[in-house]
Amino acid sequence: MTGLYIHIPFCEAICHYCDFVKRVPSNKTMINTYLETLGKELTTYRDRFSDVSTIYVGGGTPSMLDLSQFRRLFEQLKEINAVEYTIEVNPESYTSLKGQLMKAYGVNRISLGVQTFDAGLLTYLNRKHTNDQVFEVVKDLRAQGIANISIDLIFGIPGQTEAMILEDLRQVRSLGIKHISWYQLILEEKTVFWHLFKKGQFHPMEDDETARWYEHITTSLGQMGFNQYEISSYAMEGYQSVHNTLYWTMADYIGCGLGAHGFLDGIRYENHQSLQHYQRSYVKTSYETTKTDRMADTLIFGLRMNKGVNLDQFEKTFMVSPFLAYDALDRHLEDGLVEVVDRHLRLTERGRLLGNQVFMAFV
Ligand code: SF4
Repeated sequence: MTGLYIHIPFCEAICHYCDFVKRVPSNKTMINTYLETLGKELTTYRDRFSDVSTIYVGGGTPSMLDLSQFRRLFEQLKEINAVEYTIEVNPESYTSLKGQLMKAYGVNRISLGVQTFDAGLLTYLNRKHTNDQVFEVVKDLRAQGIANISIDLIFGIPGQTEAMILEDLRQVRSLGIKHISWYQLILEEKTVFWHLFKKGQFHPMEDDETARWYEHITTSLGQMGFNQYEISSYAMEGYQSVHNTLYWTMADYIGCGLGAHGFLDGIRYENHQSLQHYQRSYVKTSYETTKTDRMADTLIFGLRMNKGVNLDQFEKTFMVSPFLAYDALDRHLEDGLVEVVDRHLRLTERGRLLGNQVFMAFV
């Protein structure tokens, strides 16, 4: 299976925590010019389209595209027979006509940027939608026949209280959606929050508190029927993200668009992040991965998943046990951060809270 990721790097406003590749477009022409370049880049991968089984259009804010821009993009992808075709949508830029068009072109999964149901926190994050818009989008998508809906939520926002998290959980239950990506807020460099932090005006939530919330969220979602299958991902039976699972299992994926990454035939590449450079040559850097790179990536990505890494498969591929290749693994086993269950190496519940500490063993 091969995945295809397409990046639409435009947003109506910049969220205070965001370090993705994005910009506020100066006008519609800027988006059209970008789509033209993106179209040309997509054409260079056309001979691989028959292998593509998942498409993920992310951003940025793909739902910012107008109908003609969407049609232009969809037309280029229509020969792909994808089992999963996801588009990221922000509630404020969705319209029923866009939903209709998505459905007509085979989009079968929506990832909706909600982040929180608390109006005050939405303002603090600089998000531009209302809860009513979220409910309307979900209702309309279902009416269009797109029932596979995932929402993104964030915990660990300074000022986020127990009551706010409980309200998010209550809304999750009432929306009846199938998949949730519930991320911890990470303070990233060059974001608005980073600048506030430097001035002493942003106080990250304490680790103990975020750990408590992570456990609470995971337990509560489990009680609602959402199985955690990755550090930040929870799904009802049969609704795990196929596309994201390709990343975590070292499958091939094509990345197109500004700043996109790809992994094809053992080669990792990264596209330019500047529009000017991207328009001249799409790829900024690429390198052929070594066996050492692939071993480390197999563990770093594979351990994100609750089922972990199949040890027999790992040893067959790399002719070595990860315990022999990485000394620190024995220590993590003793410290209770990783465990071996049914010949799978996986993070323990505590290990999921301290994943980065474990991943350091492989770099
Ligand atoms: S979080 Fe999403 S919507 Fe907000 S600025 Fe970043 S890419 Fe744009």
